[in-house]
Amino acid sequence: MSITTTAVQPLIYVILGCPGSGKGTFAQAISPEGYDHVSTGDITRKEVQNETEFGLKYKEAILGHVIGGIPFEEIQRLVDQRLEKAILGQKGVILDGYPKTKEQCELLDTFIQSNGLQDKVVVVLLDVKEENAIDRILYRQTCGKCGKIYNSKFSPSKTPDECDACDGALTKRMDDDAQGIKKRVYEFKTKMQPVIEYYACSGRLHEIDGNAAPEVCLEKFANFHRTMQSKA
Ligand SMILES: [Zn+2]
Repeated sequence: MSITTTAVQPLIYVILGCPGSGKGTFAQAISPEGYDHVSTGDITRKEVQNETEFGLKYKEAILGHVIGGIPFEEIQRLVDQRLEKAILGQKGVILDGYPKTKEQCELLDTFIQSNGLQDKVVVVLLDVKEENAIDRILYRQTCGKCGKIYNSKFSPSKTPDECDACDGALTKRMDDDAQGIKKRVYEFKTKMQPVIEYYACSGRLHEIDGNAAPEVCLEKFANFHRTMQSKA
């Protein structure tokens, strides 16, 4: 029998959801407990920025539109490293943007099993109506200084285009126009189906309705987290 040093064991969340489904809100609901938000989008952006060997390969694959040219083994390796670091530090993880294919699901399962973490993994699908997801991204604004997220339609800043917390300028993401968003939401629904099925078939998928307002979702996600922790 092993004796744990912490009363509450951290979990590993695999979070699945289209853009605008509330993944950021989910991370926000759980992050006060020291959870690491491991986003493969952020990881790859950083590698490209720092022009690492992987970053250069990744950029080349994207620019060259090479199908299958994206070095997935290396993404897996980077994810494994982040997971290992979090586990060693007794930290929980929110895995966002990975796995993206059935093969990656299997690779992740191999990692999880070889580390005896089966009972610690919680797979969440944030279910949101397409029109809600589109509205959320379309009106989303981010503070360039502190990173706080606003929505100019649903939760605007007090002064338009200015952050309440730090007076920084609020900006929109370049690709966040209606057409681009629709495409990204649609792509998620089609491309992620095998991943959703992989977890649903093994009875590991927790679907959460994420259509409510952010404050309501925040509360809901926090409650869900407490329930999962008490089971782990
Ligand atoms: Zn700010």
